[in-house]
Amino acid sequence: MSDLNHCESLYWVFTQLCNDKCDHCYNLSGPQGERMSEADCMAIIDNLPERIDRIILSGGEPIAEKKILYAILDRLKERYGGSGTQIMLQTNGDLLTGEILDTLIEKGVTRFDIASIDRYHKHSGARLLELAELFESRGVNGDDKDPLIEKETYLVQEHPLSWGYWGATDDMWLGGNWARGRAMEKDIWKRDPAHNFCKVLSGGVGFLTGAEGIPQEISIQLWRINPCCPGTYKAMGDARKEKVAEVLARVAQSPVFQKINEGDPLGMGESVGVSREIAEARNAELQNVCLWCDEFFRDYFDMETLQSKFQQA
Ligand code: SF4
Ligand code: SF4
Repeated sequence: MSDLNHCESLYWVFTQLCNDKCDHCYNLSGPQGERMSEADCMAIIDNLPERIDRIILSGGEPIAEKKILYAILDRLKERYGGSGTQIMLQTNGDLLTGEILDTLIEKGVTRFDIASIDRYHKHSGARLLELAELFESRGVNGDDKDPLIEKETYLVQEHPLSWGYWGATDDMWLGGNWARGRAMEKDIWKRDPAHNFCKVLSGGVGFLTGAEGIPQEISIQLWRINPCCPGTYKAMGDARKEKVAEVLARVAQSPVFQKINEGDPLGMGESVGVSREIAEARNAELQNVCLWCDEFFRDYFDMETLQSKFQQA
């Protein structure tokens, strides 16, 4: 087991406020999206692992919560400045101006990902040329378009300024819309029991140890500590109140979470008497492995006690 007080990659949705309201949005972000207070955000930063190689700040639209975003960046600089942590910002780019870009750079963001270049977003890339000029004017390099997943690109002390752009397409790593949030409401989630969302980047695979070609990454959805970006039915812990490393150390003892770490959600019930055959049959009916995972944590396994619901009865 790796040192759980050292996180290779942390993905944090600190707001679900957004100027857009895309049909495929997995976390129901929008103008009425859920928000957190600045105090809660600061408490979360205090509870993060001691060492983090990269932190990806996302939303919602982070720039729609500019005041809190700036406060988060200041606090991250206090905690991790000088330790080589790369600060990345995922934004739809709609609200970015020269003045905001200057402030973000000054506050320590070194990587910008414009994650809105697809058919679901209102502007679907209409600002791309304008953004390219804006980044170029500030010396932000645009040669690496794809999200940076290679460790060599962020395990360095000095991070050159860079930006890239991408969006939701069926063939990118997430393999179709997650069965979550507005994608569920709009019925545009990916129905394919053969696609294992858990075993690709953003899934649960490697959340404790890292996996082949995939960094050890966890996600925090507002305050909910998750092994993956889609998020489990209940969170593993509350980052406002608990040390993230302690939450990870607790779940790491459970064979259920060891299976998630292997990217094998169909096998996660075996240690508590839910066979792979049952999981496969339900996955075939539900048409999506994350929906099977929801059912497992709702009906069979208690997230708080980390025990089978049947053993407890
Ligand atoms: S997908 Fe992105 S831009 Fe669209 S509503 Fe969700 S957070 Fe906002
Ligand atoms: S199967 Fe569960 S743990 Fe794996 S990606 Fe889906 S929701 Fe996350």
